[in-house]
Amino acid sequence: MNEQDNPIQNSDDFLSAPKIAENYSLLRQIGVFSHIDALNNEIRAYKNLLSGALDIFNHTSIDEIMDATVHQISDHFLPSFIAFLWKPIQNRDEITIKGYQNYQLADLGFKIHSIAPFEPFFRQFPQPINYDVFACELKDKEALRPFKKMKPEIVVPILGPFGLYGIILMGRKLLAGSYSEKELLFIEQLLAFVSQAIKNHLHYEHSLRDTKTGLFNHGFFVYRLNEEIARTKRGKYPSSVIVMDVDKFKKFNDSYGHLVGDKVLETLALTIKKNVRNEDIPSRFGGEEFTVLLPNSGQDVSWVVSERLRKAVAAMSVPWEPSLPQVTISLGIYTFDKDNTLDAEGIILRADEALYLSKERGRNRSTIWSSEGICRRENKTETG
Ligand code: GH3
Ligand code: MG
Ligand code: MG
Repeated sequence: MNEQDNPIQNSDDFLSAPKIAENYSLLRQIGVFSHIDALNNEIRAYKNLLSGALDIFNHTSIDEIMDATVHQISDHFLPSFIAFLWKPIQNRDEITIKGYQNYQLADLGFKIHSIAPFEPFFRQFPQPINYDVFACELKDKEALRPFKKMKPEIVVPILGPFGLYGIILMGRKLLAGSYSEKELLFIEQLLAFVSQAIKNHLHYEHSLRDTKTGLFNHGFFVYRLNEEIARTKRGKYPSSVIVMDVDKFKKFNDSYGHLVGDKVLETLALTIKKNVRNEDIPSRFGGEEFTVLLPNSGQDVSWVVSERLRKAVAAMSVPWEPSLPQVTISLGIYTFDKDNTLDAEGIILRADEALYLSKERGRNRSTIWSSEGICRRENKTETG
């Protein structure tokens, strides 16, 4: 093979090949060079898109994914707004709306209580939608009417096996006219990646949760407990586990039915969530038993939390007609520190022993497990 027959490795080799120089005018005339330029531009755009997508997939919280998206878009143009709407998979009502204007978080004055009504529409049209073209061509403005006031240019559904998880809206381009076709393609492709990243994150969150109550599941609780056992061994601060169990719940179910029992468990889960800190891990152990991991909390703090939980449950009202009798819970607390030699199972077992004593001594009580073999503190039977 002589030099002239060598295959071309890259465009620089290609352009410096002697035959190119000989046929330069002809090649130019038939548009070969501009075609190469266009292809190179397209390759650059795809590389940009891929590195943007990689950046978005590297983030591990929805907030970070959204910030990264806004950052990526800001490299290209300034949209009038970007809005993200989403909900946790196990919850139909809890919509979160996050809006950006001028790349900053902003209240867009947009209220929506549920995305469920949009679901049939987006199942039919699952791709990113150019709002104007869509509304004009298909004349189906009704389904998207709640967004009309915001004047979105692009609407991207986040769809998955559990239905519609969220929607991304992006407004018109400010400055320098309207979006070019290429820009629209870039936005649609980037937002398709963003939608996938948000969906992955929601699936991950879902895999840590108990479906009935939305609290963490037992697997995640044990995983975090193991982390906490390792951390307390290195640090100065103790941590605690509270185990709780609904009192006489079998009788409750037998009298009112499982459906009502489930409503009680859901309300109880909400009450638990409201009465612990963000860094605590409230979980469903299984059945009518719940656990809370309290990092950096000794006996005194855990006692206060346990009693707060007990009283909150004894005062909680379950939304049901006709109204139901009060339910109560019994609780057991175990605190471990750097000298702890128990594994996760051993710790849960001790908290369970303390819980058992609460039951034995009359229910609707908290008990702390103590190394002296007796449970150190036990509240009176007051329910207030
Ligand atoms: P104790 O005060 O000793 O805990 O009495 P208890 O009746 O609560 O205890 P027991 O273990 O005998 O019964 C637990 C009951 O919890 C049995 C079951 O009907 C009910 N239960 C467990 N999981 C669920 C659930 O997901 N939904 C409903 N509705 N009931 C559940
Ligand atoms: Mg039980
Ligand atoms: Mg029980």
